[in-house]
Amino acid sequence: MKTYDTIIIGAGAAGLKAAHELYLRKKSVLILDMGDTHARKVAISGGGNCNFTNTSATYKTYFGNNPKFTISALKQFSPIDTLNWVKEKGIKFIEKEPGRYFCTDGAKYIVDTLKNDIKNIEIKYNTKVESVYKNENLFIVNTEKIQFQCYSIIIATGGVSYPVLGVSNIGHLIAKKFGHKIVPLRPALCALKTKYFDANLSGISCMVQIKNKDRIICDNLLFTHFGIGGPAIYRTSLSTGKFTINFMPNKNVFDILKTAKQTNGKKDISTILGEYLPNKLALFFLTNPHKNIADFKDSELKEISDKIYNFAIEDYETIGMNAAEITFGGVDTKDISSKTMESLLCPGLFFAGEVMDISGDLGGFNLQWAFSSGVVAGRNA
Ligand SMILES: Cc1cc2nc3c(=O)[nH]c(=O)nc-3n(C[C@H](O)[C@H](O)[C@H](O)COP(=O)(O)OP(=O)(O)OC[C@H]3O[C@@H](n4cnc5c(N)ncnc54)[C@H](O)[C@@H]3O)c2cc1C
Repeated sequence: MKTYDTIIIGAGAAGLKAAHELYLRKKSVLILDMGDTHARKVAISGGGNCNFTNTSATYKTYFGNNPKFTISALKQFSPIDTLNWVKEKGIKFIEKEPGRYFCTDGAKYIVDTLKNDIKNIEIKYNTKVESVYKNENLFIVNTEKIQFQCYSIIIATGGVSYPVLGVSNIGHLIAKKFGHKIVPLRPALCALKTKYFDANLSGISCMVQIKNKDRIICDNLLFTHFGIGGPAIYRTSLSTGKFTINFMPNKNVFDILKTAKQTNGKKDISTILGEYLPNKLALFFLTNPHKNIADFKDSELKEISDKIYNFAIEDYETIGMNAAEITFGGVDTKDISSKTMESLLCPGLFFAGEVMDISGDLGGFNLQWAFSSGVVAGRNA
């Protein structure tokens, strides 16, 4: 049986970037993937246009037990390195929001470049890894059909969300077998199911400010037929627990209503609020929408304004792994070297990408993590 220098499990963004570094180091490499093609998540990322990096990436844009674990890898292969790589390959891109880069002509260009970069490194598709064990200094990799062996191994098997693309928890099982702890997995960067809002709000989107135990988020919220989604909520799903929504950020709702009571007393309260909120949403907050604003007591206006700027959401659940962009949790980084991505428990065992307990915010941070950690693992395996 041939002994490879390195076997990479997973031909996603992290595995392919690792393979490129190993190719530059002239190592013999084999990539195993259970799917029939490579970089399938990259292909659908960013709505098909791949938000491939974000130049504001720092450890503060990552979540998990130890976000500072990302510092070294982000330094070794930074968002600017990603941007330069994209430029060098002639891929057209656009900065849609400050620091947030997308492909202009589709994610396909990143997918193809990741593959072209690794030249003739062999990828065995439709090859599902079932287990890995170590025999003295060799790793033995069991797939459904054949066994392979290598001196070092990179686990780049991603998370378990978006199962329609074919996912598995083998990376977590292998890590566990070698003594690593797994931070419990849950869906993240996804919509939330709640019963607080009427289904007739579905389709409405508005700019909101959300406060949770971790941070304040200003972004768009979209009402759906089952609850709430959109970027503000995707980002909120990275945290757990109660949060509040301010539907009129940067406005003093109570002052606006009180001033209107004095200056526009004959107007319906719904007309006043309709100047600031989508009409259906304004109606949602009101029990007497067509009453003149002059006929409301200040205490009633206060109650309405409290609801608008401090709407508490306590009872909700995520939409589930099926539609989540990422998996929160994964291999605990406390037993992995942040400088090399090598296991501190088993020499020769490396990790890259989403399989680890590192979750990026919405905005290109997760692919950047896959690239950075993949490069570092590939330089050290
Ligand atoms: C709809 C959607 C949109 C997204 N958009 C963006 C975006 O615009 N920007 C951004 O930064 N992030 C985005 N993400 C997140 C980002 O795509 C992922 O975080 C990133 O691709 C993870 O890369 P990875 O290489 O770690 O894992 P993956 O890309 O998941 O690759 C893991 C690979 O391992 C293989 N594998 C798993 N188990 C086995 C096994 N047992 N045997 C063999 N092979 C196996 C899988 O087939 C897969 O090819 C999006 C995700 C989704 C689902």
